[in-house]
Amino acid sequence: MNKKRIAVFGSTGSIGTQALDVIRANPALFEAEILTAQSNDDLLIQQALEFSPNAVVIGDEKKYEKVKEALAATDTKVFAGEAALEEVADFDSYDMMLAGIVGFAGLKPTLRAVEKGKAVGLANKETLVVAGDIVMRKAVENKAPIIPVDSEHSAIFQCLVGENRNPIDKIILTASGGPFLGKKPNFLVNVKRDHALQHPNWAMGAKITIDSATLMNKGLEMIEAKWLFNLEPDQIQVVVHPQSIIHSMVQFADGSIKAQMGLPDMKLPIQYAMAFPQRIENNFPRLDFKKYPVLGFEEPDVKTFRNLALATEALYKAGNVPCVLNAANEIAVWAFLRNRIGFLDMTAIVEKTMQQVTYIKNPTLEEYFESDGEARNFAASLINL
Ligand code: NAD
Ligand code: MG
Repeated sequence: MNKKRIAVFGSTGSIGTQALDVIRANPALFEAEILTAQSNDDLLIQQALEFSPNAVVIGDEKKYEKVKEALAATDTKVFAGEAALEEVADFDSYDMMLAGIVGFAGLKPTLRAVEKGKAVGLANKETLVVAGDIVMRKAVENKAPIIPVDSEHSAIFQCLVGENRNPIDKIILTASGGPFLGKKPNFLVNVKRDHALQHPNWAMGAKITIDSATLMNKGLEMIEAKWLFNLEPDQIQVVVHPQSIIHSMVQFADGSIKAQMGLPDMKLPIQYAMAFPQRIENNFPRLDFKKYPVLGFEEPDVKTFRNLALATEALYKAGNVPCVLNAANEIAVWAFLRNRIGFLDMTAIVEKTMQQVTYIKNPTLEEYFESDGEARNFAASLINL
């Protein structure tokens, strides 16, 4: 079997480094063809020296010379800047893009891979939140398989294998509830960055960790699920499950429910997406049910964690509203991570921006970009950035 050549976009992040762990552990199956990073030049150089990719991209152009020099004795081509991400996504030489860039920045390169008919292992959920209709339509047109990496969506995807076109009643996305499960606004108002960055079950990048603490992450995942599995909004339910053992569930037309379970470890959905349709062996820790005598389930508290209510509103309103929600949220999380605003201010910013930006029912790609820009500017004006 030929090795699958993986283009790891966002190779220095939480998803990217774990994807490289999977490649390192399975040298007979995978090789790293392209690596990209925004600013962590040292780690990118180290990764390139270890994996000898065909090409690397450093987003921050100021770091180009350093990366170029460090890799001068190798065959790795070095590119820099935002446009280079699309340029390398356009290469013929890889088989699968592992889309591990965070945020809106992942949209253009992912779209390019889809337009080329490449398989995409999709961690970058914002791509589908912003322009899910266009991305999924292009995936069908170009026969580009999109295999979810997000653990909930990987769970649903795994539950659907072998079900062909059996009708889905609904899907049930599980949420850990984050570090502030059970807390009320009088507590949340004082939450600071470092506290919000402590997630009980998952170690992830900063942005998604904050999104998990506000429950925005689950809202983004509802929108992601709508596009991935072609669902109506009322077929998507969220249940809080603090142990994060059930990664999500599908209820079929006959009422039967399938769940996918395991210890919370992103390497499993990453490996599953990379090896699909095969399952490959690994030495990851195994789930011992006796250590989890109780699995709990509860209703999410959308009155306290209003981001989930706002994202649900965006899911139902559709059009450019999820794009606007996402853009405002990216600005709000950015500002919170820099201690510029409080925890609850993030919700206020998203809500006001959703009210501000004009509704477009069926946006073109250009209109999504315009809505994103408009939302970012308005959200930033609320923070005095
Ligand atoms: P991270 O912050 O750890 O890593 C982000 C990566 O993207 C880095 O390699 C960084 O260099 C790159 N990057 C950042 N900004 C960029 C820009 N403007 N242009 C180009 N590259 C840029 O993030 P992460 O936690 O690995 O998350 C990546 C994506 O995967 C997110 O969309 C997240 O929602 C999703 N996801 C992550 C996890 C997880 O466990 N970390 C789980 C599910 C889904
Ligand atoms: Mg998830």
